[in-house]
Amino acid sequence: MLSSKDTVKAIKIMSEKFPDARTSLEADTDFHFLLAVILSAQTTDKAVNLLTPRLFAAYPTPETLAAAKLEDVIPFIKSIGLYRNKGKYLIACATDIAAKFNGQVPRTRTELMQLSGVGRKTADVVLAECFNIPAIAVDTHVTRVSKRLRIVPQKADVLTIEKTLMKKLPEELWIKAHHCMIFWGRYQCMARSPLCQECPLLALCAEGQKRVM
Ligand code: SF4
Repeated sequence: MLSSKDTVKAIKIMSEKFPDARTSLEADTDFHFLLAVILSAQTTDKAVNLLTPRLFAAYPTPETLAAAKLEDVIPFIKSIGLYRNKGKYLIACATDIAAKFNGQVPRTRTELMQLSGVGRKTADVVLAECFNIPAIAVDTHVTRVSKRLRIVPQKADVLTIEKTLMKKLPEELWIKAHHCMIFWGRYQCMARSPLCQECPLLALCAEGQKRVM
């Protein structure tokens, strides 16, 4: 298993290769960012960014979206998958924020997870991006990269991965690590054809060494 010291080293190497790694979701307010994260489940950030300007203009606040009907919202979001369910979540989430949180996106994981459509991953992304509160959201890229580098056991579930990364990395690296691992998974350590031969992490990576043998 990769030590804490080598995990920090791996993140530093990733951040040297991708110094500008950050979220690609675009939004003008915390509320709109939360909507964008909900919409991004099982679709690309690019597809979400294409539809959100019109959605955000139509529903600038939680109160305006809480008052909408599903059939009003669907035309704005039907270019992405699962749009009917996502539309229901958006309206329910806006209703919760308006009714329970005075129209403000809450700033704790516990409160965020009380909102409709918001699980731990979405809450972690919002904490980090909107409020700069250290958190590590674990998505498919973070999972794959953590397992290939043997930062976590191969059978680790999402919560174990998050907790292990939080234990092995200092808090000030959590947000950066999340971004770097996503970029690493997208552009270096892809699911089907990871670029092991030319990977600057090869010396640290048991999986990569097996693949290039
Ligand atoms: Fe991924 Fe291969 Fe690099 Fe390991 S060596 S991190 S498997 S690309």
